[in-house]
Amino acid sequence: MPGAVKTYDILAIGAHPDDVEVGSGGVLIRMVGMGYRVGIVYLTRGEMGTGGTARIRKKEAERAAEIMGADLLEHFDIGDTRVFDTYENRGLVARVLRKYRPAIVLAPHWEGHTGKRQSHADHVATGRIVLNAANLANLKKFDQRSEPHEVRAIFHYFLPIGVSPTFVVDITDYFDRWLEALKAHRSQFLNPKKTRDYLWTLETMARSFGSLIGVKYAQGFACSSPLHVADLLAVAGPARRVV
Ligand SMILES: [Zn+2]
Repeated sequence: MPGAVKTYDILAIGAHPDDVEVGSGGVLIRMVGMGYRVGIVYLTRGEMGTGGTARIRKKEAERAAEIMGADLLEHFDIGDTRVFDTYENRGLVARVLRKYRPAIVLAPHWEGHTGKRQSHADHVATGRIVLNAANLANLKKFDQRSEPHEVRAIFHYFLPIGVSPTFVVDITDYFDRWLEALKAHRSQFLNPKKTRDYLWTLETMARSFGSLIGVKYAQGFACSSPLHVADLLAVAGPARRVV
């Protein structure tokens, strides 16, 4: 259909430019490699981050999206550190879901403790906004200018401390490219003014998830509701290589 908006297999939503890369980048690279269409949407411009500016971070996110093979990158500006689960924000995301009609949505986890080294309040709020927006997007009477859309599943990255993943995805073969996508965010991960080695932390997390399924690197996700399974073998994962 000429002029029709492309639909997406996976739409990954984050609060700040880099969230999607950090929480699910290796998996997105894997999915793009399998032929799936992947899009990325950010709710803020990350202007409150210690490193970079809104303009710099937009450029970095564009480069990272290119490296990951995403064919959509959209930025909203609802205010870094001011992300709340309001009707207005649910409506904004519901319209995005109706526009791009993803089968699967990735979003930050909807719970978490607050404070340094804990969940960022914007991440938690984004997880909640996405869960509520998915309901709104499917309501016939919400915004009658667009067609209702039902998302098949929402998978959450950024698991709070102590929360086990519902499933874990092997990204070993995609690790180097993932690292490249992360390094595109120079202001965040290669910034000499920042003393913390974030890349080391992210590699350690990927190794930790990997150890849960006997592979080198992986990323973990949680679901807020049970997975609807039709084929037990499809969710059993590949047979382990006998060494
Ligand atoms: Zn963030």
